[in-house]
Amino acid sequence: MPKRNLRIIKRVKNVPVIGICEACKMQFQAEHQPAGQQARAQAVIQQQFNAHRCSVPSGETPYFD
Ligand SMILES: [Zn+2]
Repeated sequence: MPKRNLRIIKRVKNVPVIGICEACKMQFQAEHQPAGQQARAQAVIQQQFNAHRCSVPSGETPYFD
């Protein structure tokens, strides 16, 4: 069973803004985080990622952790 993985796909001034789940391509955004708050923005995205459930295209088996 593949492990779902979070990937940051957009950064502004080195602060993570958008991440996606590599398994289901759902996007997680951390807009309006103060500059220099990389860890906080990362945490915001990570939290959404941890909370979401993958919804995969039909024909594939969804998996949960
Ligand atoms: Zn997912």
